[in-house]
Parts: sequence; C-alpha cells; structure tokens
Amino acid sequence: MIHQATEILNNTFGYKTFRPLQEQAISSILGKKDTLLIMPTGGGKSLCYQIPALLLHGITVVVSPLISLMKDQVEQLNELGIAAVFLNSSLSSDEYSANIESIKNGNSKLLYIAPETLFLNHIYEMLSGIDVSCITIDEAHCISEWGHDFRPEYRKIIGLREHHPGAVFVAVTATATPRVQDDIQKSLGLKSDVRLIDSFDRKNLYLEIAPKTNATEQAVKFLRKYPNQSGIIYCFSRKQVDSLYRDLNNLGYSVRPYHAGLPDDERRKNQELFIKDDVQIIVATIAFGMGINKSNVRFVIHFDLPKNIESYYQEIGRSGRDGLRAHCLLLFGYGDISKIRYFISQKEGQEKRIAERHLQSLIDFAETGVCRRLPLLTYFGERYSQEKCGMCDNCNSSAKDLSDITIPAQKFLSCIKRTNEIYGLSYIVDILKGSKSEKVLNNKHDELSTYGIGNEFTKKQWFYLSHQFTSLQLIHRDEEYGSLKLTEKAYEVLKGDLPITGKIKDDFDEKARANISENLDSTLFEILRSKRKSIADKIGIPPYIVFSDKTLTEMSSILPISKKEMLGIHGLGEIKFEKYGHIFLKEIIEYCDKNDVKETGPKIESRAIIPIETVKKSFHTTGEKFNSGNSISDIMAETKYKKSTILKHMLDYISEGTPLSTDRLLNESTLSPEKQKLVLDKFDELGTEKLAPVYDALKNKVDYNELHLLRLYHISKKLVSES
Ligand code: ADP
Ligand code: ZN
Repeated sequence: MIHQATEILNNTFGYKTFRPLQEQAISSILGKKDTLLIMPTGGGKSLCYQIPALLLHGITVVVSPLISLMKDQVEQLNELGIAAVFLNSSLSSDEYSANIESIKNGNSKLLYIAPETLFLNHIYEMLSGIDVSCITIDEAHCISEWGHDFRPEYRKIIGLREHHPGAVFVAVTATATPRVQDDIQKSLGLKSDVRLIDSFDRKNLYLEIAPKTNATEQAVKFLRKYPNQSGIIYCFSRKQVDSLYRDLNNLGYSVRPYHAGLPDDERRKNQELFIKDDVQIIVATIAFGMGINKSNVRFVIHFDLPKNIESYYQEIGRSGRDGLRAHCLLLFGYGDISKIRYFISQKEGQEKRIAERHLQSLIDFAETGVCRRLPLLTYFGERYSQEKCGMCDNCNSSAKDLSDITIPAQKFLSCIKRTNEIYGLSYIVDILKGSKSEKVLNNKHDELSTYGIGNEFTKKQWFYLSHQFTSLQLIHRDEEYGSLKLTEKAYEVLKGDLPITGKIKDDFDEKARANISENLDSTLFEILRSKRKSIADKIGIPPYIVFSDKTLTEMSSILPISKKEMLGIHGLGEIKFEKYGHIFLKEIIEYCDKNDVKETGPKIESRAIIPIETVKKSFHTTGEKFNSGNSISDIMAETKYKKSTILKHMLDYISEGTPLSTDRLLNESTLSPEKQKLVLDKFDELGTEKLAPVYDALKNKVDYNELHLLRLYHISKKLVSES
C-alpha cells in the first residue's frame, strides 16, 4: 500500500519524497493502528491522513476546531481533484445539504467537521449509517486540560468508537508535552501506542534578535530587504498596532492592522486581503494567526517582546510554511522587559513564579551568544546535537566579524563600578556617551572619569555590546530593580587578566538578506506571481492555493519548458498541470523566448528548438470541444472541470486569436435578449479587460458566469468581423 501512497504523493500532490515521519504515519494508519502524530506547524501533518483517506474504502472524518482552516484545506484538496467537503456553520443551507448528499452517497473521501457540528443529532445519526474508515482529530491537544486550548466537546469524540469500531483513530497536533500526550491517548481511547513525534526544529526559519533602539526605523529598514513579500509584524498592544500601521501606511507600504479592538468585518476583511496577497503586511496583536494557513509568509517581526518562548515559537511558526527561507526578527528592548515585569508583579503565587520563569527563559534565549536553536529546542525538551545551525544571527557572525572588545568592556564595567552598581543599562550608556541629561548632571556623573569616554560607539552599539557582556557573564541584571551588577569575571577583565572578543555591529546583519534561490530569475518570478494573483482572483481563492511560492520559485529557477519538466516541479501533479500548470508553462516559454535566456541556463538548446505549439494545452482541447458542438455542461460532465475553469479555458483559447462559435455562446446565456444587449453595450463602453467594472455598472444584477460568457461572445464576434 505504501507504494500506492507514494504514487499519490507524486502524481496527485506533486511532491517527490515523503518528509520524515510521513511515511511511518501513513503506514501506521493504513495498517489500521491508532496513531498519535506530533509535528511542528508546517511539518506536513495533513498529508499523513489525506493520503490514507484516498486509499481506505470508506470516508475519513477530520474533526477540526478551526473553521477558516477547514475551508482552506477543502479548497486545496478540491484543487488537486480530491473529493472533500466540510460541514460547519459558515455554509449556506444549500451548500450544507449538497455536502450531506455527497457524504451519504459515498462521493466524498474526506469530511472536515467542527466538533460542535459533529455532535448535532442529525449529523451524528447520519454518520452512524455510513462507512467511516478513519477518524482524525486535528489540534488534538484541545482534548486536554493541560493543553493551552482546552475544548470540552473534544471529550465526547471517544463516543464515535461505538458506532465505528473498525475506524482507525488518528490524533494530530503541533504542541503536546508528554503529559498532554498521555491525556490524548487516554481521552480518545487510542488502542495502540504509536506516537510519532517530529523535531521542533524549523530549519528554514532564520532567527535574528536585535537590540531594540528605534523600533520603527528598524522595522522599515528590515522591510526594505523584503519588498513585495508577505509578512506579519506582532506588537504588544492595540495602540502600538494602530500607530505602527499608520506609520507604515504613510510610508506607502501595503499594510493593514489586525487586533481585537477592530470591528469584526474590518478584521475579517484585513485578514482576507492578506491571505489573498492583496496586502503584503499585517501589523497585529497576537490575536492574529490562529487558523491561518498561508504558506508564503516570508517574515515575522516581533516589534515587542513576545509573552514567552512558547508564544514566540508559535508566532514565528506562521512563516515559512512552504519550507522556503523565512526571516524572523525579534526586537529586544529592556523597556519591554520592564513592562512584562510589571504585569508579572501583579500576579501571585504559583502563577507569578511560572511567569517569571517564562520571562527568564526568554531573556536567556535573547541574550545567548551560542546558536539560538540550542536554548530554543532545549526549552521544548529536545536535545540539539549540532553546534551550529547556520540559520541564526549568532551562527552567522563568523570569526572575521569578531574583534577584541576588551577595552570597550573595561570602559563599560568600570562605569558600572564607579556608579556603585545601582543603575540600569540606559543610564550607564548615557554616562559613557557624555549625556547632558538632568539626571546625569544632578548626580554629578559628568565629573566621573568614565564620563564621555564611549563616544566611539552609538547608543545602540553599546546596547548590543552589553548583551554580549551579559552572555559572557561579565554582568548580570538585578531582577527587581534592573540595575547592572559585576561578576567576578568582570574584575578579571578590569584588571586586564582576561581579554575578550565579541562583535561590534550595527543593528542589522546585512548578510541576512532574502536569498530565495541562487538561480532565481526574479523578473520571471514576478511575472508568474502576478499571473497567479490574477488567476486566483478570477476564481476567488487565495493565490497560494493556485501554487505556493515554492512552486513559483522552482519554476523561475529551473525554467521548465515541457509538460514533463513541469511535472517535476514541487507541488505540480497532473491535475494542477491541467488546471493552471499549462498557463504558467506558456508564460515561462514566452519569457524565455522573448528574453533570449540562451546565455543563462544549460537547457538553452532544447528550449530554443521546442516550439510553443508542441506543448499540449488543455484550453485548446476545451475550445475545440466547444466549437465542435459540445455544450459547456457536456464538457463539465466529461472533464470534471468546474464551469469557471471551462470559461477560463475558453478565454485563453480566444486570446490566441481563434473565435468561439458566437451563436452557441449566445445559446448558453440564460439572459433575455434585452439584458444581453445591455451587457454587451457595457462591454463596448468599458472594455473587456476586466469584469468588475461591468459588474458594478450593472448594479450587481448580472452574475459573473453570465458576464464571462458574454465577454467571450463579445470578443469572438470582434475576431470574426476582423478576419
Ligand atoms: P501542518 O498541517 O503540519 O502545519 P501542512 O500539512 O499544511 O502542515 O503542510 C505544510 C506544507 O508542507 C504544505 O503546504 C505542503 O505544501 C508541504 N508538504 C507537505 N508534505 C510534503 C512533502 N512530502 N514534500 C513536499 N512538501 C510537502
Ligand atoms: Zn544557529
């Protein structure tokens, strides 16, 4: 069976190989063994039950609490030609009954369902009467009170066992401590002890932590490195979100805010715009992100300190889900720590102690001089055996970036000593920089020998140095007052017995630049990206469902020029090729021809001789079928394409200059001749480039399918009269 699974992986999903654990999970499920699967976000959990769903005889029920995610998953599956449906409160009653019908008559292989829907009487009964092969419980940690998102309805899922004794149970989640795992096992009555647990290491995330100096300026500088890329900026408060949003918006960035204080519809709209790539940046509080499956988030900025390592990990985890490099920057400010400390001080007892420990782990993580993955993974109970990951700021500062920082250290340490170890970082730096602030003058610290001896560095460089002094254990910070204290080691440095090396740098590591792929043709990438956007908008789905960034990246670096080569691209199987792949193939070939990419790639010879015509295009077939007498519904029945796809094919067909039968197009229209004339007049007036203006001008009274159809008529008619 695993052989068949691999075939589905290659042909339907368009992926070459399984990721670690996927194959084991699939074998276990196909062997009807209950399975607990723990993989980090983006690890590829869905495939583990989706592929078995296609191989098992009955339906796979996926219980999932996230309604938006459900819709997304089902759309993606449908795009791959997989029969999947969902049931939740967001469906209209027509859609709802159509989905129930397709479940009952065995047409659907996967049913996504919210727990509250699952336990409605009529649904529960309906499910009791059908053949259920697998029950997958997504976000399985919700079943445990020890998890971070307990949902009591999850406790009832075990009841399904009774009605479906033969069904295999699969519990999947991205976060479960051993205690939560035991709870899941027990509460679902899992009959086997298969626990597949993947590493928490998200290798494609570049981790960087920079001292926070002028946060807005830092964010803008960062954004310049990622023009036109999608990203999330997390802020601590709604107020901060609003103000950063205004700043970025004024600077002309494509940006929207997101927080719980905005009206529901505005929040939803902003999220939607982001998901559909209509807006590149979301500035948000942590309310944003749950249930977002967007795969091409290229960066996450923590403008303020996250609550704890767990939240940090979850928030950065929303980037790079497509496996491509994503950059996660945390701006680390001591002011933020004081803010969090204040909140902690309001707590009591155990809760207070836990919060303090969480904060300390976060500070340790931020101030570490070693590979960042070490403290991060250790926190999650994982042993990290590599010394360097090569994907964090600490690993990327090579020996040549290091210099002798003994003298700056001595200046800094002696300044602390001369002020009796009672001041915090900012004040110490003020003295070193010769500040004329009231506080410095009143304290007569302008009379100190260390006053104004640190002008060779900017304030932010001093902050950065101070972090290194901390991780080198020369200083530590008083928990309660924030004052800096010297350690014994500091005295060795002061006496000149211990030279130290470290980094003197700006607030940014310029090397940490987006570098998606060495061979990437970025002009082509942009062309393909806008093609993707226009296709997605036409069909009304998010662009990444058409193709992921990874797929486009591969296309623009490998430059496939035949269907066969296209099928070798990540994420491209037969069905996706028929649907969209051929359109992109055409773009790539045209681009290569137009720009004479002969000099760049090894494949030039073959590219030059393969004429465009030899590439079989499905829209040709559709157009020819229509012209030879098949109606649109005939073609739908025969090819299983959606009507929208066929209309799109027909548009592609006539764009190459061949008209479609005008009479038969008019026959397909259900509008009265008067109405048709109205629409056609509007096309005369407004052009046929875009449908939206015509739709608006007709006051939304004519639906889009009709507009598509009459546009085909309008263009074909013109082509006929011109020829
Ligand atoms: P999770 O549910 O674990 O967060 P998903 O199932 O959504 O993750 O998978 C994340 C991404 O990984 C998907 O967009 C998919 O493109 C990709 N993916 C999954 N399995 C594979 C594979 N075997 N090869 C290549 N890409 C894969
Ligand atoms: Zn590292």
